[in-house]
This record gives sequence, C-alpha cells and structure tokens, in this order.
Amino acid sequence: MSGSRDRRRKPEWLKMRPPSGERFTEIKSTLREHDLHTVCEEASCPNLGDCWSGRNGPGTATFMLMGDRCSRGCNFCDVQTGGMEPLDPDEPANVADAVAEIGLDYVVLTSVDRDDLPDQGAEHFAETIREIKDRDDSILVEALTPDFRGDLDLVDTVAEAGADVLAHNVETVDRLQWPVRDRRAGYEQSLAVLERYAESDAYAKTSLMLGVGEYDHEVYQTLSDLREVGVDIVTFGQYLQPSTRHLEVFDYVHPDKFETWRAVAEEGLDFLYCASGPMVRSSFKAGEFFVEAVARDDADVATAREQARARSD
Ligand code: SF4
Repeated sequence: MSGSRDRRRKPEWLKMRPPSGERFTEIKSTLREHDLHTVCEEASCPNLGDCWSGRNGPGTATFMLMGDRCSRGCNFCDVQTGGMEPLDPDEPANVADAVAEIGLDYVVLTSVDRDDLPDQGAEHFAETIREIKDRDDSILVEALTPDFRGDLDLVDTVAEAGADVLAHNVETVDRLQWPVRDRRAGYEQSLAVLERYAESDAYAKTSLMLGVGEYDHEVYQTLSDLREVGVDIVTFGQYLQPSTRHLEVFDYVHPDKFETWRAVAEEGLDFLYCASGPMVRSSFKAGEFFVEAVARDDADVATAREQARARSD
C-alpha cells in the first residue's frame, strides 16, 4: 500500500477542463433527441469535457443502455440504484440512429445492471450491437457489459453479437471486491466472464481503479489472473469519490505509479495494450486508438501502441 489517506485536496494532476464548444452541444442535443443516457453524465465522468468537445478526435460518448437506474449499488459508483423502468424496445435503433447522426466511428456501449430482468438485459444489449453493425460494419463497437451473475449463456448472447471489443470491469483486487462493489459482484465471477470473452474473436478488456486501498502485490496478482484467462487490454484509473455517501479515496496514486503498472502489464505480462493514468476511465483514452490501429489499420502491436499513445497525449 503506497501513500497515506489523503482525500482533502486533489493533486494537480487530477484537474480537468470543463465541457464547452459546439461539438459538446451537438452531442448533448442528439442524445436528448433520441432519449438516450450516457455513463458520461450518469456517473459524472470527469472527462466528459474532453470527450464531448472532440479534443481527441471526432468526439465520443459512452451510451448507457437499459435506463439510468441500476439494480445494484456499488459503493464507488454514482449511478442511482433501484426504481428501474421497463426496457425501451426502441433503444437499440435509437442508439444506432444517434451513432450515425453524431458520426462516431468508435462506439462504446455500457449499461446498468438489470438483475430484475429474466435475461438481465443480455438480448437487449446484443440487439443494440447488431443494430449498429448492421448499418455500418466498419464502425468499431466496444461492449462494456455487466457480469450477468456469471450466467455464461447470457454472456454468450452478447459475445456472439459482433462487437470488436468485449469488456467487463473487475474494478479492483480480490480482497476489496466488497465493499467496493455490490455483493452480487465477485472476482471469480468477473474472471469467468472475461475468460468467455477472451475465447471469442473480439479483444477482451477490463479496467481497475487504483486508490481504494489495494496493495501492490494484489494488483500484480490481479494482472496475472487476468492474463491467465486471456484478457488482452487492461486500463488503470484513479478512483474519485462521487459524493460523501460513497467510498472514500484511500490515496491519490502518483502518475509515475500508473506508468509502472503500464510497463508491468505490457512489458512484464504481455498484455496487448495497457492504458494507465489518473484520468483514464473504461472508455476514455482507454485503448480505442489501439484497437483502431490493429483492427482498422492492421498495424502490429508495437506500432499500434505507439500510435495510440501519440493520439492519447
Ligand atoms: S453495477 Fe455497480 S458500477 Fe455498474 S452501474 Fe450498477 S452500481 Fe454502477
């Protein structure tokens, strides 16, 4: 465990620019027109300004499927719990419409957990992937999914829908699954989902937060376990407390430490790509440029890493 409990003042490396500009307004109005949610807004992502303002390319947004209320209550997450609405059957087509209107060539889809539904929303998620791909197969789709309580038939429903990247977040090390995540989540359960995704043609990806009290040897063990089940891409970002009702920040991890974990993951454990930095989130500067380089430009891994880094800086 590095550093000490320091949650009063954020260090200078955690400052972000507020959202602004024409592109930001365009994306916001298109989303409202199609009655769509994003994890950017619902989880109060600090990078919204950068992403929606297109400061790093055509602009990107992470669509959050199945409503803005989750059946679970993870202690790090700002999404509201309980009171879920019935699924909107038009959502898959609405998302595909918005993607075309905004002109996205890389789309990240995520969702709340819907333990309340018979298939936990697996078919709805898969339908959204298919809607986008049926309209334009050149659009790269990253599906960041729930764990479907480890039901591998439901996991397969999404895995077979044609996404280019299949992601599920393990979030933290085994010892801290509770209290960081909802009790229905679990380390072995998440590894089983990722192993299934790694068996598909898509890239398998996961993310961890740092700064919730993890020890270095636990992070290394987690990386080894992820590599063992075949995960290709891993990201590390700093946990930030959404409100005083949420888990406290245990420490603000220095950017040098993030760089160390990147090197361990890529050079030590042969992950294809590791995006690691205080402001890295599951879908911000988090490998999309790497995937574009390998999937679209057929670049080799070393070249793709270089290109991705150059575009992310
Ligand atoms: S499962 Fe947890 S992390 Fe995901 S949206 Fe629900 S509360 Fe947030």
